Amino acid sequence: MRKKLVAGNWKMHGSLAENAALLAAIKPALTGIEAAVCVPFPYLGQAQAALAGSSIAWGAQNVSEQAKGAFTGEVSTSMLLDFGCKYVIVGHSERRSLYGESDELVASKYLAAQAAGLTPILCVGESLDERESGVTEAVVSRQLDAVIKVAGVASLAKAVVAYEPVWAIGTGKTATPEQAQTVHAYIRGKVATLDAGVAAQLIIQYGGSVKAANAAELMAQPDIDGGLIGGASLVADEFIAICRAAAK
Ligand code: PEP
Repeated sequence: MRKKLVAGNWKMHGSLAENAALLAAIKPALTGIEAAVCVPFPYLGQAQAALAGSSIAWGAQNVSEQAKGAFTGEVSTSMLLDFGCKYVIVGHSERRSLYGESDELVASKYLAAQAAGLTPILCVGESLDERESGVTEAVVSRQLDAVIKVAGVASLAKAVVAYEPVWAIGTGKTATPEQAQTVHAYIRGKVATLDAGVAAQLIIQYGGSVKAANAAELMAQPDIDGGLIGGASLVADEFIAICRAAAK
């Protein structure tokens, strides 16, 4: 059976003091529940120190596709490994839309992460325009194909996919459980046409305004295997409730 995984995406939020309080609250509350937090780069050491030995893993929100060198402002996979990261988010819609990350660049980051032994959380999802134009599946398919082309379908056995409709991220508008399930089933079905075994095991998270109040309904869908949580991951009680709903 597939396990469920909830990961927090802190985005560019936090401070040493705020993080200390948040980590101290979630760590004991999630004992025995597998979860993760993807924190800003400067706080990786803090997350490592606070969470080592717990059931909560930590990771980053972006990584360079380059191994090392003159790439000012970039952070490499080996640097993430130095801080004990397990996960790294690649292709978040904010990276794609605000920083111009193409499908090909996202695929290179995915490949670099896996080559280093990190587990990429690959974000895919359509904009509101794309949904309204009826091309949701085509967009998600194109984003997945870019990765499958360079890394192969078998690579998904060591990855997490996060379906995040762009119109639901940070907007308070959650996809209905049925809307989310439809796309999750599409993703699993697409992967199954290439490798049924990989598809059956693939963790597909939902992301987009998940909160304690809507988590249980979303997590009850057959193809939703957890969540990638933005805003609500910064509020201890919310994040704990979402993780518990997924673990049920
Ligand atoms: C996200 O940033 O991945 C996200 C899903 O954000 P939010 O939960 O705030 O919509």
